[in-house]
This record gives sequence, C-alpha cells and structure tokens, in this order.
Amino acid sequence: MTDRLHTDTLIIGAGSAGCVIANRLSANPQHQVTLVEAGGRDNWHWIHIPVGYLYTMGNPKTDWCYSTTPQDGLNGRSLAYPRGRVLGGCSSINGMIYMRGQKDDYASWGEGWSWDDILPFYKKSENYHRGADEHHSDQGEMLVQEQRLKWDVLEKFKKVCEESGFNDRPDFNCGDNSGVGYFEVTQKKGVRWSSARAFLHPVMHRSNLKVMTKTLTERLIFDGDRCIGMEGTRHGKPVSILAARIVLAAGAVGSPSLLERSGIGSESVLKPLDIPIRNRLEGVGKNLQDHLQVRLQYRLDTGETLNQQANSWLGRIKMGLQYAYNQSGPLSMAPSQLGAFFKSSDEVDRADLEFHIQPMSADKLGADLHPFPGMTASVCHLRPKSRGTTHISGTNASDPPIIDPNYLSEAYDRKIVCRAIEKTRDLVDHPLLAEFSPSEHKPGRTQKTDHDLVKAAGDVATTIFHPVGTAKMGPDTDGEAVVSEKLRVHGLRDLYIADASVVPTITSGNTHAPVVMIAERLAAWLN
Ligand SMILES: Cc1cc2nc3c(=O)[nH]c(=O)nc-3n(C[C@H](O)[C@H](O)[C@H](O)COP(=O)(O)OP(=O)(O)OC[C@H]3O[C@@H](n4cnc5c(N)ncnc54)[C@H](O)[C@@H]3O)c2cc1C
Repeated sequence: MTDRLHTDTLIIGAGSAGCVIANRLSANPQHQVTLVEAGGRDNWHWIHIPVGYLYTMGNPKTDWCYSTTPQDGLNGRSLAYPRGRVLGGCSSINGMIYMRGQKDDYASWGEGWSWDDILPFYKKSENYHRGADEHHSDQGEMLVQEQRLKWDVLEKFKKVCEESGFNDRPDFNCGDNSGVGYFEVTQKKGVRWSSARAFLHPVMHRSNLKVMTKTLTERLIFDGDRCIGMEGTRHGKPVSILAARIVLAAGAVGSPSLLERSGIGSESVLKPLDIPIRNRLEGVGKNLQDHLQVRLQYRLDTGETLNQQANSWLGRIKMGLQYAYNQSGPLSMAPSQLGAFFKSSDEVDRADLEFHIQPMSADKLGADLHPFPGMTASVCHLRPKSRGTTHISGTNASDPPIIDPNYLSEAYDRKIVCRAIEKTRDLVDHPLLAEFSPSEHKPGRTQKTDHDLVKAAGDVATTIFHPVGTAKMGPDTDGEAVVSEKLRVHGLRDLYIADASVVPTITSGNTHAPVVMIAERLAAWLN
C-alpha cells in the first residue's frame, strides 16, 4: 500500500540548495514544508572531519557513485563523477572552498541576476570570519573561515606567484578574484560546515518542517499543467506526497533526470524510452558545463608534505592527536589550500584559469599518496566553451544517468589547456622553488607541441566536480531555457527548480556558494 502524505511546499533534495530553502520557508509559520532526501542522515564522523572526503567520495553510503561516458577529450577515459547522496548533498562531501566567482560572470545570467542584484543574497547566508563590510556579512548561518594550517612549500609557491605578477588576494569573494591567496572554507573551527549543518540541523525541531531521509523520488505527478507532488519510495516502500508547490533541488544530475522521468524534456530522449511527453522542453539535460582540472603532479626532493605524514604510522598518530586536541593539522584540511586566478593570455579580459595547489600528490584523486614528498598544481579553465549532456538511461531512478561532459570538445578549450600547462611549468621553474627540486611526475615533461600537450592533459585531467547548467534559466524565447528568471519551470504551474542545474553559464570559481545564493533567491520569492 502507498503511503499518501500532504504538505504545502515539497522540496526534493536536501543538498546545498534544498537545506537553505527548507530553512527559509519553514521560518514562516504559515508554510508547512516537507524536505525529502534519497540519502540518509549525515551522522557519520567522516562527513564532518574535513579530510573525510577521501572516504565519502566513491562510497555508496554518501555518494551516488556515477561515472561519465568515455571521453574523447580524455583519450577515451571515463571519470568517476561523485554527487552527494546524504543530508547536505554535495556540501557534505565537497572540498569546502567558498567562492562566489567574478562580478562579470553574472552579466549574462539575465534580468535580475547582476552582481548588485545577487550580492545581498550572498550576504544573507554568510557568516564571515573577518566580520561585516560592503561585501560580507557576519549574520548568516554559513560559516566562512580561514584554514588552520600552513605548509612551507605552499608559502613558497605563493611568493612565486607574487613575484610573477599576481596580486596578493586575501579575499577572493568581492567580485574580482584575480591573484593568489589561501582559500577560505565553509568550516567551523576545523569541522565541515555543510548546508545541512548550517541551515537544516538548527531548525529540524520546527513543527512546520518535516525532513524525510531515505526517500527517493521516482517521478513528479501532475493534474493537467499543475505539478501536484511526487511518487517514489521511502525506505524501499511506496510513498506519494501531494503538495501545493514543488521545488526541485536534486542537483545538476538529479533534477534533469527527475524531469525526464516525469515526461519533461526532449522527444529524442523520451520517445525511445516510451515516456509520454507532458511538456517538451528541449534544454533538459543539455548545456552541461563543468570545470576540468589538469593535475600536474610534482615529486620533491625535500620538504614536508602530506605524503610523508600520511605514509608513516608516527605521522598518522601525530595527525590524529592534532585533530583531537584542537581540530587542526592535516585532518582539518580542505583538499586544496592555496588558490590563484589568472589570465591564460592577454586575449581574455579577466582571469580564466584557477589553480588549486595541494601539498600532496597521488596518481588519482582518492588514491594512495605517493611514497615520496609531493605537490600537486591543479589548474582548471574557468569558462569552457565545451557543452555536454546528462540524460536518463531508463525509466527508474535506479537506472544510472548517461553523463557526457564532452570535455575539450571545443578547439578553444584545447588551446587554453595548453597555455595552462605551460604557465604552471613556468611557475614551478621559478628559482624560489629550487630548494625543493620539483620534477614533474605526471604527465611528465616530454611534450613539445600543442598536440602533445592536449594529449597529456587528456591523460591526467579530471573533473573538479562543478557540473551546472542542465536545466538552465532564461526567458521562454530561449529554446533551451528550462526555468524562467524567477526559477519556475516553463509551461508548467507550481514547479520550481533551485540548484546547480539552473545556472546558465558557469561561474569563474567553485560552485557551492553560487548554489546557496540561488536557493536564497527562490526562498525569498516563495516566502
Ligand atoms: C567531491 C566534490 C568536491 C567539491 N568541492 C567544492 C568546493 O570545494 N567548493 C565549492 O564551491 N564547490 C565544490 N563542489 C561543488 C558543490 O558542492 C556543488 O556544486 C553543490 O553542492 C551543488 O549543490 P546542489 O544543491 O545543486 O546539489 P546537491 O548538493 O548535490 O544536492 C542534491 C540533493 O538531492 C538529492 N537527490 C537527488 N536525486 C534525488 C531523488 N530522485 N530523490 C530524492 N533526493 C534526490 C541528492 O541525494 C542530494 O542530496 C564539489 C562537489 C563535489 C562532489
């Protein structure tokens, strides 16, 4: 028998966005809010200890464990494509970097989304460690703090950047992020501060908020053009929830998949699966954008790096004690500490490359650290032109999506990736780093031509986990827009989307903070 429940506002997905919306709407006692999440509760210690991303990624307890199709641009490789499946969604497994992007990113987002329009919504959620000023607030729930450890090799790399003309940038979040500095992170004194910790747990007691974990939405249900709820399973048993309005916050893969399973999408995807078309929206699952990081790994002759500490018993005991004593040391570490934003050439008007510098190295993310001292200089192109897709492969939520980011399919992106590798090598060659004698472990420095560099990038590049754009916002005159600039799904009533999927053009930086901002906007409109 199906459990049939009723609510006023139904939010599907308790990730970066869903937790914010649940908090804001349930603050108004007039709303009855239900938040459903396919994953479980976030009560596992590795979710909260920052370095725990090593255990939460690729783990079905916390990750959907998707993978991409084989990528021509990556020499035929498929990538693991982690997406959080737990309260907090990706914010429970991510790298914790707080990054809004650049002011000019938002110029193309459409009516009502300029930097000046959105800044108050960034500030609304933020609790900034340096206090309030014109760019920041200290009143919000999302703690943005400094990291709690420094590494000599990163300090030197920062100096190299400064000597090479990069500005010292202690704050990346005031509209212009060009320069070099330490990333600020969503942590509370060395503990991960996910959307669930910031926005959901403090309000779980509200009598007008119901949070249902292990509740998988199979599809949306409709009465004519009105969305009236969901059907799916809770702890494996059938459930349906009827609602006056529905907000999809299932993320850049989850939201388009749900739309397609519900008959909203393009005929070319739905017809072969015998899904009756409720609303033809060509853009569903298209316009997938992601940042591709080229991970140049360096072997160092000397210098303290995480590799030595993690590979020795003594080092591990020391790290454990440091964390137990005052939540510092490597266990409190975001994967990347040092950041730098710069232009790939003078042909671009603003920084289009981002460095994530790490005092550690491994053949792959999540693999064992190398047995020698190591450093990784990961560089990603921030405004790629390549566009991919994510579509369902079947009619059930258990059918894995077909995710094709189509990396490096555009000649422009291939050109930029070559400049990015060259620039990284120039920086690493700086005399200030000579004391570490860095040698390029991977891809190895044998490439001479752009053709070789593209091949090298294809061998070592991987996602930096920023898929966006798969249900993009825009006016209904745009043939591929899925939601309006007020985030309502075109052609349907009472159905909204607020998550990474609505981003029309990817921001020049990491994507959690922009998603939280988008959620704040929809919540303000619905309240
Ligand atoms: C490993 C990793 C590292 C990252 N590092 C950073 C970083 O350092 N800084 C940064 O800014 N960004 C980072 N990101 C990206 C950032 O975390 C995401 O862009 C952001 O969290 C996306 O938020 P969202 O609300 O769109 O989706 P999510 O946070 O993924 O939330 C979607 C939620 O919906 C649920 N859901 C999906 N389908 C269904 C369904 N059918 N029924 C019920 N529930 C469903 C999911 O389980 C999930 O909890 C990282 C991401 C990952 C995965």
